[in-house]
Amino acid sequence: MSLSDAFRCVRCDVPLAMYTRLQLGGKAEFFAEPETENELISLLKHCRQEQTPVHVIGTGANILVPDDGVAGLTIALSRPAFNGITVAGQRITAGAGTKFGQIITQAVVSGLGGIEGLIGIPGTLGGILAGNSGTNANGDVGQCVESVRIADFAGNVSDIPKRDITFAYRDSSLDSAVILSATLLLDKDDPAELAKRMQKLWIVCKTQQPAGELPSIYPFKNPTSGTSAGDLIDQAGLKGTKVGGAGVSERNAGFIVVEPECIANDVVRLISLIKDEVANLTEIELETALQIW
Ligand SMILES: Cc1cc2nc3c(=O)[nH]c(=O)nc-3n(C[C@H](O)[C@H](O)[C@H](O)COP(=O)(O)OP(=O)(O)OC[C@H]3O[C@@H](n4cnc5c(N)ncnc54)[C@H](O)[C@@H]3O)c2cc1C
Repeated sequence: MSLSDAFRCVRCDVPLAMYTRLQLGGKAEFFAEPETENELISLLKHCRQEQTPVHVIGTGANILVPDDGVAGLTIALSRPAFNGITVAGQRITAGAGTKFGQIITQAVVSGLGGIEGLIGIPGTLGGILAGNSGTNANGDVGQCVESVRIADFAGNVSDIPKRDITFAYRDSSLDSAVILSATLLLDKDDPAELAKRMQKLWIVCKTQQPAGELPSIYPFKNPTSGTSAGDLIDQAGLKGTKVGGAGVSERNAGFIVVEPECIANDVVRLISLIKDEVANLTEIELETALQIW
């Protein structure tokens, strides 16, 4: 029995462009927005049994979907069961599908500090934790995690304490499971001071991102040498360089912006060109943070 016959929440041949920040790429063979944790678990068990590959998508801020689409099942935790925030003392617990910006705002309003410096990073809590998102100046999300609830791809659910999770630079040991929710342990602080700090950092963040309406991504990890990927790309003289409809941002060379006629393969080719040019000039191999499915 096909997945869409077995599960009401599954649809076939769903264009994924509308689920990604770049609005590019082909279709998901199967796409599911499960209504409950039990439904998600049944889906994972079914896929394991049928050897169907499974992908999870958040806001698609760090995913490039190939033009010829994605085989298997793509899952989005967009339903209310996976969204929502509760605050208890210094702890915030949220569903993995919750937008991280909402969690930061709730923390600030509740007088809880520690994540306000990450304002402006787009994504859901699940995506932010999977890639241990952060900034050089303000740390990363892993520092504030107390525990994470996951389902492995065989459908087994467990609560993992921080000591059993590895958080590294733009990487975590959580990327081989479906993150369901997490609890962050934050510091008590003055809400007014936190709000001021958050607003200041929001403005700084927005001035560093490409201006205008075109969708953009930040596809590279910053090299461990301390230089930013954007600085290296700028030094290589690549600002404004284009491949098809994909171009290096004029404002911050770390970003790629896409024109309406862009296809996913233009982005792949531009990333490859940037890597080659930067390696030729600086002998530094840029690593891709963007997940190319
Ligand atoms: C303009 C812009 C600025 C950015 N700035 C920064 C920055 O300053 N610092 C930084 O670290 N990143 C930055 N990013 C990258 C991006 O915001 C992060 O990678 C973010 O975590 C993506 O979240 P998402 O929900 O969109 O995840 P997606 O892009 O949808 O997915 C990313 C990865 O997470 C996995 N994933 C998503 N949800 C789950 C889940 N529930 N369980 C398991 N795995 C899951 C996906 O399978 C995929 O492998 C930026 C991106 C953009 C476009």
